[in-house]
Order: sequence, then structure tokens, then C-alpha cells
Amino acid sequence: MDALIEGYRHFRKTYYRENEKLLKDLFERGQSPKTMMIACSDSRIDPALQLGARPGDVFMVRNVANLVPPYRPDSEFHSTSAALEFAVLALKVEHIIVLGHARCGGIAALLSGAHAGRSDFVGNWIRIAEPARQAVEAANLHDDDQRRLLAELESVKVSLKNLRTFPWVKTAEDAGHLKIHGWYFNIGTGLLWRQNADGKFEQV
Ligand SMILES: [Zn+2]
Repeated sequence: MDALIEGYRHFRKTYYRENEKLLKDLFERGQSPKTMMIACSDSRIDPALQLGARPGDVFMVRNVANLVPPYRPDSEFHSTSAALEFAVLALKVEHIIVLGHARCGGIAALLSGAHAGRSDFVGNWIRIAEPARQAVEAANLHDDDQRRLLAELESVKVSLKNLRTFPWVKTAEDAGHLKIHGWYFNIGTGLLWRQNADGKFEQV
């Protein structure tokens, strides 16, 4: 805790002072980010640090394994879907990025089945990425790293597909107001990959 309080004091003395105008403007005028990002809650992922995002740039959702559930309006509590609705309909973001990442614990749990039936929430949540697990099984890979990589990339594709089940996402994309992107970051190499027009991931 002391390190975080120390970090806050450092922020006040440096970043806050140097960016006071930007931060005060954001405070007064409110936010108008052009980009929404869905990233993993994993503590190693830090879009501000790794992508240079400033306050006000990115409307951020972080959840276990950076997943987007399918469109399912009902009386349950849907935090990711609520954020998506606000970003698309109220903020009118122009881009949505699903940021996958290497060595994702949520995706590892999906592959191992570790949480299936043995957790209150995680096991059911990561079931969203079940098509990614099936793709890995179908690929018949024996190397664990390759299995994880494929599952992580395929799960980003599942989320992109699910995004398009939200009617207002589909409408905005079809009208050309919204672009949807699949990205993948590896903290070990520091490299970012991006899905190209053919659906393949290539290094940026
Ligand atoms: Zn993760």
C-alpha cells in the first residue's frame, strides 16, 4: 500500500503538474473518448504504459480474459455489455479494440477446465470463449505454448464475433461509424500484434 501512496504523491508532483490543463479540461468538459478497449484484468497489462493512452483517450473495460459476451438483454447484471452500450450509444466511440494478451490466466483455465463447476463466477464467465477451446482441440496441437497462443488469439476472435451480435454495434459498424479491432500483446517480448483484413494476427 505504501508504494501506491508514494506513487500517488509522485503523480501529484510530476504528471498532474505537467498535465494540469488537460486534466482540468477533462474534468470540466467531461470525457469524449474515440476508442473503447476491452482488456484483461491481468495486472501485467497496462494500456496507459504499453500504448501511451492518456486520461480521456480510452473508455476502458477490463474483465477476466478480455471477453465480450453475446448480446443477451435480460434482468441479470451485465457489466461488460452495459459499458459497451454506453460507449457506443452515448459516447459514440469510433473504435472498439479487444486486446488479448499472452499467458492469460483466464484462457489457461479455459483450456485446463480448472474452474469448470468449481467457482461461483469465473468458470461460467470463461465459457464465453468455449469456441476458442474447441478450435484448439480441433488443431490437435501438442505443444502447450502453441495451444495457449491459439486459444488466446481465437478467444479474441470470439469476442469480435460476439460484439457484432449487439444490434447497435452492428448498425454502427455497417454505417461506417465504428471500426472493430482485434489486438494481442505479449509482455514477455513487448510486442503488439494486430488482426489484419484476412483475420490473421501480424506484428505491428
Ligand atoms: Zn488475461
